[in-house]
Amino acid sequence: MRAFLAALLLASAIPALAQGGPPAEPGPFRTPDLAELTLLEPGIRLDVRYARSDNFLGVPVYREARAFLQRPAAEAVARVHRKLAAKGYGLMVFDGYRPWAVTKAFWDATPEDKKLFVANPARGSRHNRGCSVDLTLYDLATGMAVDMGAGYDEMSPRSYVTWEGGTKEQLDRRDLLRGAMEREGFFVYPWEWWHFDFKDWRDYPLLDLPFEKLGGAGAPPATKTP
Ligand SMILES: [Zn+2]
Repeated sequence: MRAFLAALLLASAIPALAQGGPPAEPGPFRTPDLAELTLLEPGIRLDVRYARSDNFLGVPVYREARAFLQRPAAEAVARVHRKLAAKGYGLMVFDGYRPWAVTKAFWDATPEDKKLFVANPARGSRHNRGCSVDLTLYDLATGMAVDMGAGYDEMSPRSYVTWEGGTKEQLDRRDLLRGAMEREGFFVYPWEWWHFDFKDWRDYPLLDLPFEKLGGAGAPPATKTP
């Protein structure tokens, strides 16, 4: 009975989580306007492993292999892609906007000692705000992703931005990607060379809309400000 009461108190203290949705935040927020990256810039390639089984969970968590960001962030990524062409590279995107329920599934499935690689659903992820993007470079000549010395979602120190164990080519490519993204208003997550947050992420709310409910690059805003 005591345990039951404790559970009840806990549930009432975090009502948003108890209901299975993102935590409530006061705002104010900008009206979300999620734009599809490949519609804004068709040269951007996708490798959405969360729509397949070859991700760290081993099962698909998206029904569709698509990538969205809030429009100013999406337009900035498109500019990065176009500028990189002069160096012989394009952008390959693993993930952008991520519904909150997927962040919660990642957290629940990740062991304690690896939790620095996943966002706590009690606070939400900047991916849930449509302001984070996971991406790498691809070689324009071959269409293949480049070697960065550690794979996407590799939960090891080789993924850290400070890792110095790679070849000169691997580390130079990480620097090229990071520099190009930083010049367009993104900053890298220190534990993941592939994860970048858009500078205005605080302006957008946590969202839990599945991709099927989102429009494309020319669609009107997906939701209203809460
Ligand atoms: Zn990420």
